Amino acid sequence: MNHAPIHIGIVGAGPSGCYVADALGRKLSGARIDMFDRLPTPFGLVRGGVAPDHQGTKNIARQFERTLGKEGVRFLGNVAVGRDISYEELKAAYDVLVITIGALDDRRLGIPGEELDAVYGSGQFVAWYNGIPADREFEPRLDGKSVAIIGNGNVALDIARLLAKTADELAASDLCARARSAFAAARIEDIWLIGRRGPADASFTTAELGEFGDLSRAATRVDAAQLPTELPAELGEEQRKLAERNLEVLRGYAQRGAQDDRPLRVHFVFNARPLAIHGDGRARELLLERTRVEHGRAVASGERFAIAADTVISAIGYRSTAFPGLPFDAARGVVANDQGRVEPGVYTAGWCKRGPQGVIPANRADSLAVAELILADIAGGASGEKPGRALVDSLLAGRGVRPVDFAGWQKINAAEVAAAQGRPREKLVRLDDLLAAARS
Ligand code: NAP
Repeated sequence: MNHAPIHIGIVGAGPSGCYVADALGRKLSGARIDMFDRLPTPFGLVRGGVAPDHQGTKNIARQFERTLGKEGVRFLGNVAVGRDISYEELKAAYDVLVITIGALDDRRLGIPGEELDAVYGSGQFVAWYNGIPADREFEPRLDGKSVAIIGNGNVALDIARLLAKTADELAASDLCARARSAFAAARIEDIWLIGRRGPADASFTTAELGEFGDLSRAATRVDAAQLPTELPAELGEEQRKLAERNLEVLRGYAQRGAQDDRPLRVHFVFNARPLAIHGDGRARELLLERTRVEHGRAVASGERFAIAADTVISAIGYRSTAFPGLPFDAARGVVANDQGRVEPGVYTAGWCKRGPQGVIPANRADSLAVAELILADIAGGASGEKPGRALVDSLLAGRGVRPVDFAGWQKINAAEVAAAQGRPREKLVRLDDLLAAARS
């Protein structure tokens, strides 16, 4: 019997999309898989989120590169759903459509002063230093002595570490040129890392926390009185182990104390919830309220204090961005789904399915589970009934949209690596330059 190939569309060529493509491609011989991305470059957060000084983590891109290069798989970069093609059109084209668009919009603090100049969300700040084109013109103000970073997760640590490192310490990173100049010109003396709960509740991973002990110009400041001697009984097994390891590192930082007189200080402040940002048109001060943790929740104490903050960066998580027609849970900021099923023939995986939690291996596990679900749903029906690429290609061509294909991405990559001058790459950050490199 002659089966027509099954047509699979994946929106978002980040880690989750690549893992789904790989898993489905292995199981469905002859499948045609199209991977869309609104950027001309693939790999999502591996390129645009993972810290530029964590090159080891970025090595996973080599595996994703192999996935994109497989027979039957196409990359369609610089194609935005909702602008160049609609969700309805994709549903009409593909037997299986998988949404893996991640979570890119910053959650809001919801406090007075958030709209002041020099107040930024981590999503915008991280995209900027990683050279994502839409944030290219963004010029964060790093012109004061004090920066407050709100949140006790790894994103907050990434930002604090990059701001605290010297140009020499960033020499082997792929921090984009604009951010390199901005960091070099900054004269920051104090970086405040603000956690609304206690040190045992922080979601820092220990290796990332430990990196602050090795920075050449930055001292760590931790108030030993903030470190608990006993952990709350209700902590789960995993959080308990993490908390114990993190507390050991923090105790080491507390012991170094004030005798460490390096010119930049990274202060870890726990049990402080942000109340307001004050300033004269721009941020100057962050008003905080002491908290205590009861049953895992931050409870306000009424005791207020303020720290100088010429720049405030919130690193408190993200929301996904829906395109028209996509079933969306606006309260949680995720694609509306039941274990990955969105509607007949449509699935979702990764941060846009579960929320912005978990490192790349966690997303791999999630993508594999969704791929299994898809395979179970189409069991016996693995032949295609929809037009797939033929429809998509004619729609895009009719609108004058020229996607960047895999060969185009390889040209961008080659151009960036050729300009590296001892770095891993010199990122092209203007959309025009990326497209010109892809079409060269
Ligand atoms: P995260 O780990 O969830 O941390 C978010 C932080 O924001 C938490 O400390 C949270 O406090 C705090 N927060 C939330 N709302 C707040 C509010 N209104 N006011 C004050 N604080 C608030 O998220 P993330 O740092 O964005 O990281 C996302 C995921 O990427 C994580 O899984 C992370 O491990 C991963 N990641 C990994 C690396 C790495 O491995 N090097 C690097 C970057 C990111 P509560 O806990 O009290 O809610």
